[in-house]
Amino acid sequence: MPELNVTLDALTGAVLVGEPDRLPPVALSNLSALLGPGAEMGCARPLAVLPPPSVAEGERAQGACARVGGYVHNSLVEGPGRRTSVFFSGCTLGCSGCWVPDLHASGAGTLVPVDRLADVLLDPDYERDGISVLGGEPFQQPEGLLALVRALRVRGCGHILCYSGYTHEALRRLADRRNAIAAVLAEIDMLIDGPFVEALAHLAGPWTGSGNQRVIGAVSSAERTMALPGASAWPIQWDDGLGRACGLGAFGEAARGAR
Ligand code: SF4
Repeated sequence: MPELNVTLDALTGAVLVGEPDRLPPVALSNLSALLGPGAEMGCARPLAVLPPPSVAEGERAQGACARVGGYVHNSLVEGPGRRTSVFFSGCTLGCSGCWVPDLHASGAGTLVPVDRLADVLLDPDYERDGISVLGGEPFQQPEGLLALVRALRVRGCGHILCYSGYTHEALRRLADRRNAIAAVLAEIDMLIDGPFVEALAHLAGPWTGSGNQRVIGAVSSAERTMALPGASAWPIQWDDGLGRACGLGAFGEAARGAR
């Protein structure tokens, strides 16, 4: 019998069923009878990625920019709790089986001033526990990434997570030559590191794509508190009965109320 993953989204009322196509037809039919007809999601995040905000040409000259493919609100799979996730463009790492080949080209997506981007990511009409930055490879735009992280902090964002196809150790080596990478690592709250390894996809834990990837909290080396493989043993705790998944007890408190 295939494993069945069900997530209850108390905010939107959605019942999210992971990979329903793997279920026997009779089980799927029984679920539909119980829960109503389903609609496709991207894991536990909306399928539709919102386009980057449109910008006038002159705006780009006024401050730091980042090239992004889009963003989503209400993602429940890209970090602790409810996330707004933004997708940076450009990646040269070439993981086999990558889910976002459309973001590989360095010219993909739209160049957006980070202040505009931070404003739409922190749209007050949407609830969130933090912002997740994905790619592409965000650290291949280190200055834009740093500027966005700072713009989010200035606006009160309490939890920022970055994904990277580089390992934490590789990022530390790159940071010796790129100050912006060092500054990002010092500023963010959580890093999920390492390339996507297709052969280890079945070992992926919450928030990760493959079992080699690690969830690293308090990324600056002096404060680093956890570096765990993303395997299935990651202790998710349902922290408030509202369907918010928060990793490791103390973190649940830290994340609550973050923007
Ligand atoms: S690092 Fe991410 S975006 Fe780049 S190839 Fe690997 S999975 Fe794809």
